[in-house]
Amino acid sequence: MIIINFLHIGIDDTDSPDGMCTTYLASQIINKFEENGIKLQDYPRLIRLNPFARFKTRGNGGVSLKIENDENAGLAKEIVLGEVEKLSMFDCDNTNPGVIFYDGEITKEMEDYAFRAIYEFITIEEAEEFGKSVGCEIHKFKKGRGIIGSIAAISLPLSDYTFELLAYRDSKNYGTERRINYDSVYLMDKETFPDTFENIDYSENYIAIEPKTPCPVLYGIRSNTVEALKKAKEIVEVAEPIVDWCIFKTNQHTDMHIQKADNISSMKQYGCYEVVGEVKNKPTVIDGGHMFFYIKDESGEIECGAYEPTKNFRKTVSYLREGDIIRVFGGIGEQNTFNIEKFQVIKLNDVEYQNPICECGKRMASAGRNKGFKCKKCGNKIASDEKVPIKIDRFLENSQFYETPVSARRHLSKPLCRMLL
Ligand code: ATP
Repeated sequence: MIIINFLHIGIDDTDSPDGMCTTYLASQIINKFEENGIKLQDYPRLIRLNPFARFKTRGNGGVSLKIENDENAGLAKEIVLGEVEKLSMFDCDNTNPGVIFYDGEITKEMEDYAFRAIYEFITIEEAEEFGKSVGCEIHKFKKGRGIIGSIAAISLPLSDYTFELLAYRDSKNYGTERRINYDSVYLMDKETFPDTFENIDYSENYIAIEPKTPCPVLYGIRSNTVEALKKAKEIVEVAEPIVDWCIFKTNQHTDMHIQKADNISSMKQYGCYEVVGEVKNKPTVIDGGHMFFYIKDESGEIECGAYEPTKNFRKTVSYLREGDIIRVFGGIGEQNTFNIEKFQVIKLNDVEYQNPICECGKRMASAGRNKGFKCKKCGNKIASDEKVPIKIDRFLENSQFYETPVSARRHLSKPLCRMLL
């Protein structure tokens, strides 16, 4: 039996807000691999890590590649390190690339490390110590913070995954307005949704496949299948050259960042969770258009927020009322507020207590504290103070999920169109 040995390559922290993208760097490496007859095993991977990580540029993503560990491994390593040296944005203080080479099977402890990189914060020292303990070859550039994400990128198991097709611009167009035919994006969405998703935010008329930063990416299309991506690329028209494109396998839109919390008090700041609670008060809007309310359970309570960028989602949240039981998905941020990504209604409180109706048909008024009710029309009186339960109509529905719009969605958040898969 022939046993094939693999070389795992992790790369992270090469870009800055002014340019580059680690996926573009990876695509350049893959081109050089091809020129030299080095074949990738499986798709390159784009792995999103802790959304609250402090030094992220945008979406906290690391990249990993897997090749056969044969006589070309030395050349492959040279290519990777050469491209990272050549293309990383070294001038930016916050760009601290890290490259990892690992030869062998991904172990359970490496998988556990990867989940920690999604759920918690890891220091450079911790990552380095861990990497050495499992036999990683570690390359740090400047502070080398990228090794934290690089080790996670090679180690994360993908029980659920999606794909993203990234098309790259000619470097002379970097920083200029992207020339994408928006009508063709609408057509692409019509022809390929829900196999592709997150293309357009219809509520905001926002083209989500187009980045808003000066990076090399012309557009990125997300999908459950490679076939749908290829079809989508055929439909989207652009009026500038695409110098290269690459499909990544990714943990985007899998909810991998969400941990199931037993109760409210067990959740920690900077963690992402799903938790069930009872709405304590009617959601209200405060300065800046953010909407807040509390949920509670037997262990405690937490403030939940639907922030201004979530736009119309706040309207949906405003339909919640005291006593509703909901399951919220999201993360606990800076202000210790639970930032809602989506929620599911478990049980609506559709009962309202009102004054009784008089025999004459008119709703009665209170006759004063502990004095029962009185009808203002016919003078009829009831001694009891007890209001009567009335079933009310609700805009929200039991069991239904409600989510933030595409324009405000996290890379890791699973959209409802994937929830039933
Ligand atoms: P882009 O999405 O454009 O590729 P980015 O948002 O991924 O950019 P990076 O340049 O990769 O930003 O920077 C993120 C940094 O955070 C990396 O150095 C990575 O190693 C580090 N990092 C990732 N996960 C964690 C974590 N759990 N704890 C601490 N640091 C982390």
